[in-house]
Amino acid sequence: MPENLPKDFIRQIIHQDSLGDPSCMTVTRFPPEPNGYLHLGHAKSICLNFGVAAENNGITFLRFDDTNPTKEDEIFVESIKRDVTWLGFDWGKKLTHASDYFDRFYLAAVSLIEKDLAYVDESEPEEIKRLRGTLTKPGVNSPYRDRSVEENLTIFEQMRDGEFADGKMILRAKIDMASPNMNLRDPAIYRIRHHQHQRTGDNWCIYPMYDFAHALSDAFEGITYSLCTLEFEDHRPLYDWFIRQVETKHRPRQIEFSRLNLAYSLTSKRKLNDLIEKGVVEGWDDPRLVTIAGMKRRGYPPAAILDFCQRIGVTKKDNIIEMGVLENCVRENLGNTSERRMGVLKPLKITISNYDKDQVEYLEAQNHPNFPDLGTRQMPFCRELYIERSDFLEDAPRKFFRLKPGGEVRLRYAYIIRCDEVIKNSSGEVIELICSFDPDTKSGSGKSDKKVKGTIHWVSAQHSVTSKVHLYDRLFKIPNPASSDNIELSINPQSLEIVQAELEASFAEESTPKVFQLERNGYFCIDNTDGKKRFNRIVTLRDSWAKIEKQALNS
Ligand code: ATP
Ligand code: MG
Repeated sequence: MPENLPKDFIRQIIHQDSLGDPSCMTVTRFPPEPNGYLHLGHAKSICLNFGVAAENNGITFLRFDDTNPTKEDEIFVESIKRDVTWLGFDWGKKLTHASDYFDRFYLAAVSLIEKDLAYVDESEPEEIKRLRGTLTKPGVNSPYRDRSVEENLTIFEQMRDGEFADGKMILRAKIDMASPNMNLRDPAIYRIRHHQHQRTGDNWCIYPMYDFAHALSDAFEGITYSLCTLEFEDHRPLYDWFIRQVETKHRPRQIEFSRLNLAYSLTSKRKLNDLIEKGVVEGWDDPRLVTIAGMKRRGYPPAAILDFCQRIGVTKKDNIIEMGVLENCVRENLGNTSERRMGVLKPLKITISNYDKDQVEYLEAQNHPNFPDLGTRQMPFCRELYIERSDFLEDAPRKFFRLKPGGEVRLRYAYIIRCDEVIKNSSGEVIELICSFDPDTKSGSGKSDKKVKGTIHWVSAQHSVTSKVHLYDRLFKIPNPASSDNIELSINPQSLEIVQAELEASFAEESTPKVFQLERNGYFCIDNTDGKKRFNRIVTLRDSWAKIEKQALNS
């Protein structure tokens, strides 16, 4: 393959198509149904649609597919606009709704009836289903199929005027009941729904079906490439049929690509909605969900999500992407930009017995190990400190280089300390360590050449800021929760842990960064969403699951 060919098959098609005509413009659309919040799968589609248009001097419509008023809501419309904008995309003036075209859809349906290509079917829904046949058995014509054009026109008008109850009849395309493609066996075009629409109110009591409305909206808007997921491959002949028979000026081309599936997560609005209604998660923006709002609240930068979408690419192969791919994008993005801070997630108190009770010393700490330009800060050091509980082990193996009874460790930016005594409560739990420090070992002082193998983080107990921190793990225990019959049973009970952490003194200042790395503990952000300040762990410093997964795979 020549090196300068575009990366994925869709970009290659567009490239080929435009070779003969450099002035041709790429017009795409992102067509969400406003019945839930957007998720990572939608991000893939957004990046693709806005991406290919931008690369070809084109434009992209944000079109709400609002043809099903019983399930849709303005709240979702607003959330979708917010999320697309947050990802960094701009639809300009091209914000549309399928409902903008309700009049034109109606006229198009009338034109099909006039060409004897559509008819009103009054059969019971069960009967319509039975006559449709199966994959191995052709369908059978409905007794209503041969109605006259005039009769169809009259009844369709009565349908529109509200003379019939929901479900009483449908308008169907007249195609081929024996087609091997089930989608062509006289599919429904219009159904009756006496239901308020969020935009058109009571104007309509008949609503067009997705395949009809979608194909025509694409044609009306001059979409050149209608990019959709693989499950619509079998709908393409119908898509083309509608566009051909309605004789729109413009002929969009549908191209399918594979959906994004992410291991241990859900990318289906309907299933996400279930979780939210059952109260299993905090809401659509729960930081454990891969909804755009959840990832935003979790602290994922939009650039990391775009990077992820670029890395996974666009193909026709169905696959499941590992969570680690997304997390690596987040880590890489945050690594170069986030200032370092110190904080202890599960504190263990230590007292430095030979450090003066009233003394406080300010030690200089770097804000980023690779970027001196990000400056330094002063960390107070005194007699009582907190260290991470997991950095002390009473019965430590020989290769444990952190703190153990009689052992020595360096406190980052400070001194080497030795653990002299372990204090326990009545139930045998370690509650405090009595340590001593070596004043000659101050970091950077060059006074002593004493060396120890381990360096740990710490905060001053007198100055630390007690904070609520949310630690997240994957929401599901199984790689493909969408396949589970009882989704609640597949929830990982350890997916959220809330701890009272002790953070360094600088967190009391207004100027602390909103996103930062707590050394050795991961990347964190401040979350004020519900008016109560808390910290979210965005991602750990490395994929602690990778090893477990590898072992599991090999077993
Ligand atoms: P859901 O099952 O979550 O409701 P959907 O396909 O019904 O998804 P729409 O609102 O109709 O949701 O989707 C808008 C666009 O996003 C469509 O073009 C659809 O193909 C695309 N899309 C949805 N989910 C994914 C996914 N997992 N991967 C890639 N594209 C997706
Ligand atoms: Mg849909």
